[in-house]
Amino acid sequence: MQWTVRLETTTSVGEVKTTELVTFSRPAVVSTLAEIGLMLDETKALLARLQASMLCGQVAKYAAHHRVCAACGMMRRFKDRRTRRLQTLFGTVEVEAPRFKACRCRQPAPMAEVTVSPVCALLTARCTPELERVQAELGARTSFRDAARILDTLLPASPARHESVRNRTHAVALRIEADDRQAAAEVVAVRKEPNKAAAAAEHRPVVMLDGAYIRAVPGHQVRNFEAVCGKVEHEGHPTRRFALVRSVADQPHALLRAALQGQGWRKGDAVTAISDGDPALPALVRSATGGPVEPILDWFHLSMRVHHVEQVMRGLCALEPPLAPLGRARVDVERLRHLLWNGHHDKACEALGRITSEAKDAIMPNNPTFEAKARRLVARCTELRAYIESNEGALIDYGQRYRAGKPISTSRAEGTVNQLVNARMNKRRQMRWSPRGAHRVLQVRAALLDGRFGHQPIQLAA
Ligand SMILES: [Zn+2]
Repeated sequence: MQWTVRLETTTSVGEVKTTELVTFSRPAVVSTLAEIGLMLDETKALLARLQASMLCGQVAKYAAHHRVCAACGMMRRFKDRRTRRLQTLFGTVEVEAPRFKACRCRQPAPMAEVTVSPVCALLTARCTPELERVQAELGARTSFRDAARILDTLLPASPARHESVRNRTHAVALRIEADDRQAAAEVVAVRKEPNKAAAAAEHRPVVMLDGAYIRAVPGHQVRNFEAVCGKVEHEGHPTRRFALVRSVADQPHALLRAALQGQGWRKGDAVTAISDGDPALPALVRSATGGPVEPILDWFHLSMRVHHVEQVMRGLCALEPPLAPLGRARVDVERLRHLLWNGHHDKACEALGRITSEAKDAIMPNNPTFEAKARRLVARCTELRAYIESNEGALIDYGQRYRAGKPISTSRAEGTVNQLVNARMNKRRQMRWSPRGAHRVLQVRAALLDGRFGHQPIQLAA
């Protein structure tokens, strides 16, 4: 049996032209399941032929249309014929790009261009926007090599090289970043209305920030570098993610500002920033908003440090014989979490001071197990106290905020770190990155996860 696929083209004036694309043949009676239906290779060949046929027809029509002088309506004289290659999702197509002489109706200026090539003017890039978008999307989802393999397996897309996927991903990232900078520059100031300002304070945008470490390529100054990831949440808006590598981002604050603007934030609106105690993170939010920021220390990070104290205390209490001198400290340790949760960090610091001095007094050099544990308790308490003191301005009544249904932790931002960084570039994948490369892939991934990606208009059917 034989199947022939023909393409029937109907022009705008009703002319019909038929082109034969491909012919498939099979035994009249199949003997195995594998012989039934279309094969991938056949489909790829069919798509490539269809694409070439359609695209060349469109380009030829375009060239013919633009051969007519717009000023006088006469046909320009033909000069010569050149070819241009265009990469598409369905193969690289060589198109004819005729050049025409400038129309006689124009006064020849000494430096004027004497030839015109409408097709060259149309093909502003070497690939179609659709191919670029698909390459960037796959490149942001998986390794550049895998992305190239997937494309090569399923489509006649060319070139299916990983360098091409990488370059296109980078190109798309640069445009996303440029759009963000543009959006950040267009932020308008909010007009202050007292009653509205109070309502805005109630529902201010929340920025949750967290850092992630990425392995650097050999030869880079450091083994790991940090990427800042986060989320902006604002009631009534879909969550927006952002990620950046500060050392290479062109205006890092502009990226965050664009994310805020996308969430309905206006200049002058207050913003809440939840982070892990790294002072650089709220500072980034401050430079993005240029206005008031309410910093909150992430409850999860604080709670983890309390947990460390509790654990050491539990270890001490489990020792035989039971230690009476630490009775007071034990009560203090049990109260720590409650004090911090309810915003009594002064009292928590006092309690930590008491625990430390009691543990120091109780150190018995003749009992090495006890001594080691007591010293660890002192160290953990000192650490926690320093952490509380250095983040004093960011400590709040967590209980009250939690009961009001507001976020108190960056745990959701950590989910973003996993989605943005770990799933694509973490250490287990043995990937090493240049800060610039990582930063760009992160731009595309954040846009993809938000559903912001791929809404740019496609200029030429591909
Ligand atoms: Zn003319």
